[in-house]
Amino acid sequence: MEYVDLNGVKVSRLGMGNMRLPRSIAKLGGIDYKRAERLISTTQELGINYYDAAIVYLGSEEFLGKALVKRYDRDSFHIATKYYALGHPDYRKAFENQLRRLKVDFIDFYLIHGLTDSSYKTYTNKGSIEYFQRMKEQGKIGQFGFSTHASVKTSRRFADEHDWDFAQIQFNYYDWVNGTAKEEYELFEQRGIPLVIMEPVRGGKLAKFVGDATEMRSLQPDWSAASWAMRWVKRFDNAKVILSGMSNLEQLTDNVATFNDRALNAREVELVLKSCGAIRESMAAPCTACRYCTESCPAGIDIPVAMDAFNELAMGNESAAEDQLSWLENGPETCVGCGACAQHCPQGIDIPSIMEKLAKRP
Ligand code: SF4
Ligand code: SF4
Repeated sequence: MEYVDLNGVKVSRLGMGNMRLPRSIAKLGGIDYKRAERLISTTQELGINYYDAAIVYLGSEEFLGKALVKRYDRDSFHIATKYYALGHPDYRKAFENQLRRLKVDFIDFYLIHGLTDSSYKTYTNKGSIEYFQRMKEQGKIGQFGFSTHASVKTSRRFADEHDWDFAQIQFNYYDWVNGTAKEEYELFEQRGIPLVIMEPVRGGKLAKFVGDATEMRSLQPDWSAASWAMRWVKRFDNAKVILSGMSNLEQLTDNVATFNDRALNAREVELVLKSCGAIRESMAAPCTACRYCTESCPAGIDIPVAMDAFNELAMGNESAAEDQLSWLENGPETCVGCGACAQHCPQGIDIPSIMEKLAKRP
């Protein structure tokens, strides 16, 4: 495993994201502890030592408390988790509950979760940042940072207004070409703020070859599409930890092979960047499954699942779309068109109109 220095802490370059842990139908979508524990015992064996959780990755903190903290030496892993203001205005209580769920008295890496242009004021005016800084002074937090889905302007303002040890951004070759990944990366690099990377395969959308990938496949027949995406991120020195929300041992094995090998060379970079046009055309709804929209939905729709279904439909995969939709307790027809979801979507997806199209599908 490749390791890097993150403000004096030795961290594995590949980080275990816990937002897509295996889930079980029998447990009504709850974490499948047996399969998820097997995953954690393998990440530990392979030397991954950075584990990323969040209040909104349902059950992730409680799971790590049981499967990691209770079973392994505290020096063998670092835990990162986050404070998400929406739905949790009492940050003191939220933090105490996190320590309890994780079964720790110290959180190695703590972040303000998912800054957006609309949440900027909540995070700056309500005292949470000052509180978490005090927790750091008291030794309950190791390093304090923030993750952002905000515009570059808001991220810059937030970065400059406080003292941050690190930041977490969405960074992948698709957003380098089609989004603001380049500006965001440079913003933090210029300020000497190290980065943890989320969405290196853009919520799984870069985990499949799209369009004519003949040259990529023939050049590196053993590399998966996800491996190409990770190797692109690996080229950037300030991308310290690269998170992957792994759901199974196959993804873990593929990632570990990638992180035991080199980054892309110049020719390979050209090829991935060239593939972005076809990828964009293939995505009807560029959803990353971040779930920022779900808490505000009065109809309780599992929106990312509906977005996946919409993408399947757009690709002509009707049965896959129906299969996805069958998982929804509250289907797209329950949408009241309030638009609350769209205000939280960092990808700017017009969710209400997609719900309407899904509801009216034949
Ligand atoms: S527009 Fe529909 S999907 Fe979006 S929050 Fe309102 S009810 Fe939920
Ligand atoms: S629709 Fe937008 S906010 Fe909701 S999960 Fe997808 S990307 Fe995130």
